Amino acid sequence: VLQVEHLEKSYQKKHVLHDINFSVAQGEVVTLLGPSGSGKSTLIRCLNGLEVYQKGTITFEGQKIIPTEKNWQQIRQKIGMVFQSYDLFPNLTVMDNILLGPTKVQKKDKATARSEALALLKSVELDDYANAYPRELSGGQKQRVAIVRALALHPDFMLFDEVTASLDPEMVRGVLTIIENLANRDNMTMIVVTHEMNFAKQIADRVLFLQDGRILEQTPSEQFFTAPQTDRAKVFLDSMD
Ligand code: ATP
Ligand code: MG
Repeated sequence: VLQVEHLEKSYQKKHVLHDINFSVAQGEVVTLLGPSGSGKSTLIRCLNGLEVYQKGTITFEGQKIIPTEKNWQQIRQKIGMVFQSYDLFPNLTVMDNILLGPTKVQKKDKATARSEALALLKSVELDDYANAYPRELSGGQKQRVAIVRALALHPDFMLFDEVTASLDPEMVRGVLTIIENLANRDNMTMIVVTHEMNFAKQIADRVLFLQDGRILEQTPSEQFFTAPQTDRAKVFLDSMD
């Protein structure tokens, strides 16, 4: 469903991504690992049309993602993204945060959108919080709402960028379980950036290991975690224990 070919990305003078090539198949779970500053977030943002890039192509479901073209907004609705800071709108209730996309962007009927949103909230055990404001929620609860908000748009593809990185340890598990269920039960196609190695090991079909803006290896998960191909990945894995 997703193909990236010869992608090159710079910020002003800084060349951040070099000749990135990979693809993701329907239902596949790819984790993107690599040291801080290796370009993981930049790559994820390019995939979602949030960053312009200089060279290469990103093709999603047969259409090119080019953020300067008009159709990218429409394509992007199929790609959900959740990142480290949940950035819910503080002045809207949980329900209204979730309804914003479906009703304003997708022009969905409000009653339908609302019942879908409630079902999604129930699935993450937050249906009692539909009328609460973000400030009344814990970090983990906010992050679960952010995931529900992305799912309410019925994405075909989900991008998760360190969604547990700013959570207290006791909040992490609940959020990871939701992502695991999406992968295992709903067969969602996804790319997950995480520092939780056990979670990555468990959820990933394949690992992309990024270093200095290059993909050093693309390895099936079982192999990556037991016998990575590169010394650099070995050092990285040792540092995560
Ligand atoms: P982390 O694990 O810390 O989140 P990362 O792998 O996600 O790191 P990126 O955030 O993609 O790394 O950053 C890659 C490189 O691009 C870094 O050197 C960073 O300084 C640079 N960079 C990121 N965003 C910008 C920006 N908006 N303007 C200029 N440089 C940027
Ligand atoms: Mg990052």
